[in-house]
Amino acid sequence: MKRIYLARDITQAHLVVNLLEQQLIPAKIENSHQASGLGELAVSYPEVWVVREADAKRARSAIDAFEALGRATADDIACPNCEELNPANFDLCWACSADLE
Ligand SMILES: [Zn+2]
Repeated sequence: MKRIYLARDITQAHLVVNLLEQQLIPAKIENSHQASGLGELAVSYPEVWVVREADAKRARSAIDAFEALGRATADDIACPNCEELNPANFDLCWACSADLE
């Protein structure tokens, strides 16, 4: 199992999983609960994981191609450290925890 993508919401996570399945890459969504109960409002974003680590590179390029299509409306911030894309409201990179300027 390897985390490949952090989605903005569950809909986007499902889109990415479908995209990967079209490429015959088994993937699943983790951390998809919107609230964790007991009045605790966890800010959690659904993560997409590939089941086989060997698929990670192929999955990444499929997602890159997918994101390039939607680039016109995307407001993602590219991490200055690792170049991973982060949602505009993130302060720290989800992949490497670098400060997003
Ligand atoms: Zn980073």
